[in-house]
Amino acid sequence: MRFRTRSETATAELAAALSHLVMPGDLILLAGDLGAGKTVFAKGFGAALGVVGPITSPTFTLVREYRGRIGMYHLDVYRLGQLDEVEDLGLAELLDDDAVTLIEWGDVISPVLHPDYLEVRIERVDGDDVDDENHRELELRCVGTRWSARRRVLLEQLAAWVAESPAEG
Ligand code: ADP
Ligand code: MG
Repeated sequence: MRFRTRSETATAELAAALSHLVMPGDLILLAGDLGAGKTVFAKGFGAALGVVGPITSPTFTLVREYRGRIGMYHLDVYRLGQLDEVEDLGLAELLDDDAVTLIEWGDVISPVLHPDYLEVRIERVDGDDVDDENHRELELRCVGTRWSARRRVLLEQLAAWVAESPAEG
Protein backbone atom coordinates (compact mmCIF):
# COMPACT_ATOMS: atom_id res chain seq x y z
CA MET A 1 0.00 0.00 0.00
CA ARG A 2 1.58 3.18 -1.19
CA PHE A 3 0.74 6.69 -0.05
CA ARG A 4 2.02 10.16 -0.79
CA THR A 5 2.31 13.30 1.33
CA ARG A 6 3.43 16.75 0.25
CA SER A 7 4.23 18.30 3.62
CA GLU A 8 5.24 17.51 7.17
CA THR A 9 1.67 18.34 8.21
CA ALA A 10 0.24 15.83 5.75
CA THR A 11 2.47 13.07 7.13
CA ALA A 12 1.34 13.93 10.66
CA GLU A 13 -2.28 13.83 9.48
CA LEU A 14 -1.83 10.44 7.83
CA ALA A 15 -0.30 9.14 11.07
CA ALA A 16 -3.22 10.61 13.01
CA ALA A 17 -5.70 8.81 10.76
CA LEU A 18 -3.80 5.57 11.28
CA SER A 19 -3.83 6.03 15.06
CA HIS A 20 -7.61 5.55 15.04
CA LEU A 21 -7.11 1.98 13.83
CA VAL A 22 -4.70 0.77 16.47
CA MET A 23 -5.33 -1.36 19.50
CA PRO A 24 -3.25 -2.04 22.57
CA GLY A 25 -0.42 -4.43 21.81
CA ASP A 26 0.10 -3.16 18.27
CA LEU A 27 3.59 -2.74 16.91
CA ILE A 28 4.54 -0.24 14.20
CA LEU A 29 8.01 -0.22 12.69
CA LEU A 30 9.11 3.05 11.13
CA ALA A 31 11.65 2.65 8.36
CA GLY A 32 13.48 5.16 6.19
CA ASP A 33 16.62 7.27 6.08
CA LEU A 34 17.57 10.02 8.50
CA GLY A 35 15.27 12.97 7.92
CA ALA A 36 12.66 10.90 6.12
CA GLY A 37 9.96 11.79 8.61
CA LYS A 38 9.80 8.93 11.13
CA THR A 39 9.71 11.25 14.13
CA VAL A 40 7.21 13.53 12.38
CA PHE A 41 5.02 10.46 11.93
CA ALA A 42 5.35 9.44 15.60
CA LYS A 43 4.44 12.96 16.74
CA GLY A 44 1.31 13.11 14.61
CA PHE A 45 0.37 9.63 15.73
CA GLY A 46 0.88 10.39 19.42
CA ALA A 47 -0.94 13.71 19.30
CA ALA A 48 -3.97 11.96 17.82
CA LEU A 49 -3.79 9.34 20.58
CA GLY A 50 -4.27 12.22 22.98
CA VAL A 51 -0.72 12.45 24.28
CA VAL A 52 -0.43 15.79 26.06
CA GLY A 53 2.82 17.68 25.82
CA PRO A 54 5.73 17.36 23.43
CA ILE A 55 6.82 14.13 21.81
CA THR A 56 10.55 14.30 21.30
CA SER A 57 12.92 12.13 19.33
CA PRO A 58 14.11 9.23 21.50
CA THR A 59 17.43 9.00 19.66
CA PHE A 60 19.48 9.22 22.86
CA THR A 61 17.02 7.75 25.33
CA LEU A 62 16.08 4.64 23.32
CA VAL A 63 12.57 4.57 24.68
CA ARG A 64 10.00 7.11 25.81
CA GLU A 65 6.64 6.29 27.30
CA TYR A 66 3.55 8.40 26.79
CA ARG A 67 0.00 8.32 28.03
CA GLY A 68 -2.87 8.94 25.65
CA ARG A 69 -6.17 7.25 24.88
CA ILE A 70 -3.89 4.22 24.63
CA GLY A 71 -0.40 4.14 26.08
CA MET A 72 2.41 4.66 23.58
CA TYR A 73 6.03 3.61 23.57
CA HIS A 74 8.27 5.45 21.16
CA LEU A 75 11.70 3.97 20.46
CA ASP A 76 14.61 4.79 18.19
CA VAL A 77 17.05 1.92 17.80
CA TYR A 78 19.39 3.75 15.41
CA ARG A 79 22.20 3.65 17.95
CA LEU A 80 21.91 0.00 18.77
CA GLY A 81 24.85 -1.65 17.10
CA GLN A 82 23.99 -5.29 16.99
CA LEU A 83 20.98 -7.48 17.03
CA ASP A 84 22.26 -9.30 20.12
CA GLU A 85 22.31 -5.93 21.88
CA VAL A 86 18.59 -5.78 21.21
CA GLU A 87 18.17 -9.26 22.59
CA ASP A 88 20.24 -8.39 25.68
CA LEU A 89 18.02 -5.41 26.33
CA GLY A 90 14.98 -7.64 26.19
CA LEU A 91 13.34 -5.24 23.81
CA ALA A 92 10.93 -7.82 22.53
CA GLU A 93 9.73 -8.49 26.09
CA LEU A 94 9.32 -4.80 26.73
CA LEU A 95 6.56 -4.61 24.16
CA ASP A 96 3.45 -4.09 26.17
CA ASP A 97 0.03 -5.62 25.59
CA ASP A 98 -1.52 -2.47 27.02
CA ALA A 99 0.23 -0.02 24.76
CA VAL A 100 1.04 0.62 21.13
CA THR A 101 4.73 0.67 20.26
CA LEU A 102 6.41 2.68 17.52
CA ILE A 103 10.04 1.86 16.72
CA GLU A 104 12.15 4.13 14.50
CA TRP A 105 14.60 1.99 12.48
CA GLY A 106 12.51 -0.94 13.65
CA ASP A 107 12.97 -2.71 10.31
CA VAL A 108 16.61 -3.25 11.27
CA ILE A 109 15.68 -5.29 14.35
CA SER A 110 12.58 -6.99 12.96
CA PRO A 111 14.32 -10.42 13.01
CA VAL A 112 14.23 -10.41 16.81
CA LEU A 113 10.70 -9.03 17.07
CA HIS A 114 7.40 -10.85 16.91
CA PRO A 115 6.43 -11.16 13.20
CA ASP A 116 3.20 -9.25 13.67
CA TYR A 117 3.57 -5.60 12.83
CA LEU A 118 2.87 -2.76 10.45
CA GLU A 119 5.93 -1.47 8.66
CA VAL A 120 5.79 2.14 7.53
CA ARG A 121 8.60 2.95 5.14
CA ILE A 122 9.02 6.65 4.43
CA GLU A 123 11.08 7.83 1.48
CA ARG A 124 11.85 11.12 -0.14
CA VAL A 125 10.54 11.55 -3.66
CA ASP A 126 13.13 12.51 -6.24
CA GLY A 127 12.11 15.07 -8.78
CA ASP A 128 13.13 18.27 -10.54
CA ASP A 129 10.39 20.25 -8.88
CA VAL A 130 11.59 22.35 -5.91
CA ASP A 131 8.43 21.37 -4.03
CA ASP A 132 9.49 17.75 -4.18
CA GLU A 133 11.73 18.41 -1.19
CA ASN A 134 8.63 18.09 0.96
CA HIS A 135 7.18 15.10 -0.83
CA ARG A 136 7.30 11.70 0.80
CA GLU A 137 6.20 8.27 -0.25
CA LEU A 138 4.92 6.04 2.54
CA GLU A 139 4.82 2.34 1.91
CA LEU A 140 2.75 0.36 4.41
CA ARG A 141 3.30 -3.35 4.76
CA CYS A 142 1.19 -5.62 6.97
CA VAL A 143 3.13 -8.47 8.51
CA GLY A 144 1.18 -11.11 10.43
CA THR A 145 -2.54 -11.57 10.98
CA ARG A 146 -3.04 -8.65 13.37
CA TRP A 147 -2.43 -6.10 10.65
CA SER A 148 -3.38 -8.10 7.57
CA ALA A 149 -6.91 -8.28 8.95
CA ARG A 150 -7.05 -4.48 8.95
CA ARG A 151 -5.75 -3.99 5.43
CA ARG A 152 -9.07 -2.98 3.90
CA VAL A 153 -10.05 -0.54 6.65
CA LEU A 154 -6.56 0.87 6.54
CA LEU A 155 -6.92 1.64 2.84
CA GLU A 156 -10.30 3.23 3.51
CA GLN A 157 -9.02 5.43 6.31
CA LEU A 158 -5.96 6.53 4.38
CA ALA A 159 -7.65 6.93 0.99
CA ALA A 160 -6.93 10.65 0.93
CA TRP A 161 -3.21 9.95 0.63
CA VAL A 162 -3.21 7.04 -1.79
CA ALA A 163 -0.45 7.49 -4.37
CA GLU A 164 -1.39 7.57 -8.05
CA SER A 165 -0.19 4.05 -8.75
CA PRO A 166 -1.01 1.94 -5.71
CA ALA A 167 1.12 -1.14 -5.32
CA GLU A 168 0.42 -4.34 -3.51
CA GLY A 169 2.13 -4.80 -0.21
P1 ADP B 1 13.52 10.97 10.93
O1 ADP B 1 12.91 10.77 12.28
O2 ADP B 1 13.03 10.01 9.90
O3 ADP B 1 15.02 11.01 10.97
P2 ADP B 1 12.32 13.57 11.16
O4 ADP B 1 10.88 13.25 11.30
O5 ADP B 1 13.05 13.94 12.40
O6 ADP B 1 13.07 12.39 10.38
O7 ADP B 1 12.51 14.77 10.14
C1 ADP B 1 11.84 14.85 8.91
C2 ADP B 1 12.17 16.21 8.32
O8 ADP B 1 11.65 16.31 7.00
C3 ADP B 1 11.57 17.37 9.10
O9 ADP B 1 12.48 18.43 9.12
C4 ADP B 1 10.33 17.73 8.30
O10 ADP B 1 9.98 19.08 8.43
C5 ADP B 1 10.81 17.44 6.89
N1 ADP B 1 9.71 17.11 5.96
C6 ADP B 1 9.51 17.72 4.77
N2 ADP B 1 8.47 17.20 4.12
C7 ADP B 1 8.00 16.21 4.91
C8 ADP B 1 6.93 15.27 4.75
N3 ADP B 1 6.16 15.23 3.66
N4 ADP B 1 6.73 14.40 5.76
C9 ADP B 1 7.51 14.39 6.85
N5 ADP B 1 8.55 15.24 7.05
C10 ADP B 1 8.79 16.14 6.09
MG1 MG C 1 13.76 10.33 14.15
